[in-house]
Amino acid sequence: MFKRKSLIGFNTNAKTIKGEKIGFYTGILYLAPSDLSGYQVCPMAKLAKCDIACLNTSGRGAFNSIQLSRINKTKYFFENRNDFMINICKDIEKGIKKAKLLNQELLIRLNGTSDIKWENVAFIYNGNHYNNIMECFPNVQFYDYTKINNRNNLPNNYDLTFSYSNAITFHKYNGIAFKNKQRVAVVFRNERDIPLTFKGLNVIGGDNSDVRHIEPKNTIVALYAKGKGKKDNSGFIVG
Ligand code: SF4
Repeated sequence: MFKRKSLIGFNTNAKTIKGEKIGFYTGILYLAPSDLSGYQVCPMAKLAKCDIACLNTSGRGAFNSIQLSRINKTKYFFENRNDFMINICKDIEKGIKKAKLLNQELLIRLNGTSDIKWENVAFIYNGNHYNNIMECFPNVQFYDYTKINNRNNLPNNYDLTFSYSNAITFHKYNGIAFKNKQRVAVVFRNERDIPLTFKGLNVIGGDNSDVRHIEPKNTIVALYAKGKGKKDNSGFIVG
């Protein structure tokens, strides 16, 4: 019998496994970042200079078969959008059941390694039109990191953390995020480089879990570089 292949992976990385310990069951979709697939999924990546250091190269993403699968998923999103979204819905329905069994809250992050404005992705599922995936699952909490400033008017169940880049070409976008009092994630080169405050804001550790939506706005979420990112000198990383 044909077995449908999942697009979303549940609790597949160390940080989401840590999230399970505090009551959250997390599903993440990983696409091929920047324009690796031939389609651009990270419009700010060149300005932010983060494509080389991208988390895509950390952990499981370092293997070729995983890279290939992410490229195929990205092409699927662009070339057969509604079908792709139907499969995302099926994955989320599966996640809801599993989270219930575990007595945990389900979290969904669709930009594991992309920066797509999911709030603008409309689709039809079971004959109903949805303006976005959050509208289809109003009781599920969605979250993402983003380098795009103008993502306003988000659905209530979609939380965004702005993603800082230290590249000079990106400074004005960081400035807008600070001005808007967003929660801002900053990648430091080493764990030991993480300060107590950054740009005058309190720093909280971001590697203890990936549960962001419960954290305050107007704070810095500190992460440290992994994979090829550790050696990246393009300017994205602090330190
Ligand atoms: S860090 Fe984010 S915006 Fe930059 S290339 Fe990776 S997924 Fe895209």
